[in-house]
Amino acid sequence: MAYLRFKALEMVQTRPEVRVEAPSNKISDFFGENVFDLEKMRAALSNNAFKRVKQAIERGEKIDEETADAVASAAKTWAVNKGITHYTHWFQPLTGATAEKHDSFFDALDGIEKLKGSALVQQEPDASSFPNGGIRSTFEARGYTAWDPSSPIFILGRTLCIPTVFVAYTGEALDYKAPLLKSMEAINKAAVKVCQLFDRNVTRVNPSLGCEQEYFVIDRALHDARPDLVMSGRTVFGHNPARGQQLDDHYFGSIPNRVYDYMKDFEIEALKLGIPVSTRHNEVAPSQFEVAPLFEEINVATDHNQLLMEVMNRVAVKHKLKVLFHEKPFAGLNGSGKHNNWSLITNTGVNLFQPSSSARENLQFLTFFVCTIKAIYKNAALLRASIASAGNDHRLGANEAPPAIMSVFIGEQLTGILDEIEKNGNVKVRKGENMYLKLGIDKIPEIFLDNTDRNRTSPFAFTGNKFELRAVGADANVAAPMTVLNLIVADVLTEFYQEVDKELAKGKDKKIAIVQILQKYIKESKAIRFEGDGYSEEWVKEAKKRGLPNVKDTPRALDAFLAKDAIKLYEKFNVMNKVELEARNEIMLENYIMKIQIEARVMGDLAHNHIAPTVIKYQNKLLENARGLKELRLDNKHIKQTLQEVNKYLQIMMTEVDKMVEERKRVNKIADVRKRAIAYCDDIKGKYFDKIRDAVDHLELLVDDEDWPLPKYREMLFIK
Ligand code: ADP
Ligand code: MG
Repeated sequence: MAYLRFKALEMVQTRPEVRVEAPSNKISDFFGENVFDLEKMRAALSNNAFKRVKQAIERGEKIDEETADAVASAAKTWAVNKGITHYTHWFQPLTGATAEKHDSFFDALDGIEKLKGSALVQQEPDASSFPNGGIRSTFEARGYTAWDPSSPIFILGRTLCIPTVFVAYTGEALDYKAPLLKSMEAINKAAVKVCQLFDRNVTRVNPSLGCEQEYFVIDRALHDARPDLVMSGRTVFGHNPARGQQLDDHYFGSIPNRVYDYMKDFEIEALKLGIPVSTRHNEVAPSQFEVAPLFEEINVATDHNQLLMEVMNRVAVKHKLKVLFHEKPFAGLNGSGKHNNWSLITNTGVNLFQPSSSARENLQFLTFFVCTIKAIYKNAALLRASIASAGNDHRLGANEAPPAIMSVFIGEQLTGILDEIEKNGNVKVRKGENMYLKLGIDKIPEIFLDNTDRNRTSPFAFTGNKFELRAVGADANVAAPMTVLNLIVADVLTEFYQEVDKELAKGKDKKIAIVQILQKYIKESKAIRFEGDGYSEEWVKEAKKRGLPNVKDTPRALDAFLAKDAIKLYEKFNVMNKVELEARNEIMLENYIMKIQIEARVMGDLAHNHIAPTVIKYQNKLLENARGLKELRLDNKHIKQTLQEVNKYLQIMMTEVDKMVEERKRVNKIADVRKRAIAYCDDIKGKYFDKIRDAVDHLELLVDDEDWPLPKYREMLFIK
């Protein structure tokens, strides 16, 4: 009997309830209780020191040594009072997870707990084990982490965590945060200039981000009984349950108790960390859920998303559950993504994507709106590259998630407005005439009374007062796509400003100049706008006609980072240089290879050591039965047929696995990392994964359920 599987199923039956109680009925009583935020700094620091920190945070300035010492000491005292003994620089290396290296506050020499400003500001983690794409050769494997004061210090578990960037001593970024911060500066500068065409009071523009995070939850014992889930985060085999997604509303309308307790628990922990989760639990597939915090300034939102995933992982342990962030843990069911809601907000409190009732402000709205659309048009390949990963390849273009083709959805009415400007942008406006009226710009506010115009199949959609990038994978660090988005919009805004400036110098009226340039942009970037069904075959054809890129796999998508124009763009805005881009490209390719390699190994291992022995045992049972029937001259036709079927798929599985192993030996010898990644994509994954899976999934249906070693989909997905 399949011991592990049944043992796990037994455990699931007898899970005791985990009681969850909020510290208080009022969230405000414990919100941010584990964060050393501005309020706590104000209380702990001298007026002067506090003013300096606050200013440094707001303006992104450096913090002097004396202030750093004061902050460090105050943070330490606060933490020690909460029973914390260690601190760490918390950073986001390119492995995709977060990293920590713990140090004790205790100073044995002085016999007291200490945290010096210098230790707050900079640390040298043992960085040789983090991917660096050849930037740091092994003999000088040195990098350092540096405090990012714009993201607050917090307590996770028993450790005080200091958010930091991770950089090589030679200056190159080795993490996700450093380029994100630089892209924020780029878009800030570009957007402020454009804003000042409309409002002189704007001196700062910050991108905002709200991440809707999708995930699956399954019982821990069932998870642990599946080596593929443990090793690769997804099931490489497994037959679809009979009651799949089709029955959604009826079956999955209510949240199972165990999951509900889990959600409540991680939400409490998240709230204590100052992550503004607003409870929302949509389910799409069985055992799939979603959590969405309120939007925040993009750097903090990014840290919070990483932190939230970490908290969800930790709290799941207590509930004997396992949370899956893989983009496609279960074939045939909806995958998991992360919708990135993005907007630009000024220091005067204006959301630049919020249409207003004033026609003049709407020209500003239209400016940012049209420039963003143009940015996607110009850099679709780069945006696609920024969301590329082995896991996300299963989602994109798989007829259930946004396609790998980037396009922008804006809704019927805004389309109407852009069409109007495209047609009439050049109309002569005589003195005293209302240009806004003439162009229909005054009508914009009415649009948003009817904001039900949603297209769920679009990878980049305007949703009333923000754009929503939906193609990001559930497991991704959102800093990668958000860096690209900030950068490409900064680029178009800069270009826009320069063009307006030129026209103004010629003495043209500002409004007219702006409208005419927008008209040009609308025309140029029209091909990227698509209102139809993004999952359809027709769109694939149509997009090809329009010349839009459609790169289905990660190794090829990543080329976009090394295109000449991309390097120029990154360097122009000082977000990354060529060396950094090359290093990143290499790391992403290596990540990709590693993921496919692991999956191929798991497949081979499961086939040889789990599936084949089970099938052979079952075959022998059938053989014995067939022989016995024959001896008694009874009809054994069906048994022989089953035997034939079983044998057919067993042979296919074994043959294909052996061929794949041979192929891997060849592919592993390819020296060039890009070529090797492509070979893994085409020659390993492409040629073998589906074939092997198909054989195994047939076997799962044929072999005695009692003997099948792996927990089945129906067992994993229907949690009580
Ligand atoms: P849905 O897209 O499912 O309708 P919501 O409208 O509730 O979801 O918003 C989803 C996310 O968008 C939330 O995290 C929300 O905070 C965020 N959001 C709302 N307004 C903005 C904004 N101006 N900028 C960035 N994110 C925003
Ligand atoms: Mg959404």
